Amino acid sequence: MKLINYCKNICLGIWHLMQGMYITLLNMCRPKVTEQYPENRGKYEYGERFRALLTMPHDAENHHKCIACGMCMNSCPNGTIQVIAKTETDPATGKPKRVLDKHLYNLGSCIFCGLCVAACPTGAIRFTNHFEHAVFTKERLLLQLNRPGSSQQAAKPAPAPASALSPAAPASGEKAAADRVEPKNA
Ligand code: SF4
Ligand code: SF4
Repeated sequence: MKLINYCKNICLGIWHLMQGMYITLLNMCRPKVTEQYPENRGKYEYGERFRALLTMPHDAENHHKCIACGMCMNSCPNGTIQVIAKTETDPATGKPKRVLDKHLYNLGSCIFCGLCVAACPTGAIRFTNHFEHAVFTKERLLLQLNRPGSSQQAAKPAPAPASALSPAAPASGEKAAADRVEPKNA
C-alpha cells in the first residue's frame, strides 16, 4: 500500500509540474519569432508606421522642398527642431526672399510623434526607418537635415486661370511651360 501511494505521489508531482510548465512546453513547439539582430539586418522587417529618423530628402540637383516657414519647429512639443532662415534676393523677382539656412534636428530629444511631418506644408521632411543611432557623445545626435550647398526647389507656377486654358491661350504661355524643368524628387 505504501508503494502504491509512493508511486501515486510521484505521478501527481509530474502532472503538477507539467501543468506549471504548460505554457513553456507549448512555446517549445511553436515557430521561433525571436529576431537575431544584427545577424538579420538585411532582411529585417519594419512596421508600416515605424518612425526612426527625421530626414529631409534632396533631389539629384541638391534641392530640397523646405521653404523655411518654421511650421515644423512650432509644432514640435519639445523644441527638437530649429529652423534658421536667411534672406536672399529672389533672382526671378528681384525681391528679398526668406530661405533656409540650417534645419537642425536633435535626435536625442525627439519623441517620434510625427507632428512636424504632419505640419509641413511642402512635404519637405519625412521619417525613415533607419534606427541604428548609437553614438558615443550626445553632441553627435544633433543633425543638420539640409545638406551643405543645397537650395530650395524652384516653386511650381500657380495653375493657369480658366481663360488661359482655352484654345485661344497665347503661345508664349505654352513655351514657358515647355522651358520649365520639373525638379526630380529624392
Ligand atoms: S517627431 Fe515630434 S518630437 Fe520629433 S521633431 Fe517631430 S514634432 Fe518634434
Ligand atoms: S521642413 Fe516643412 S514645416 Fe519645416 S520649415 Fe521646412 S517647409 Fe516649413
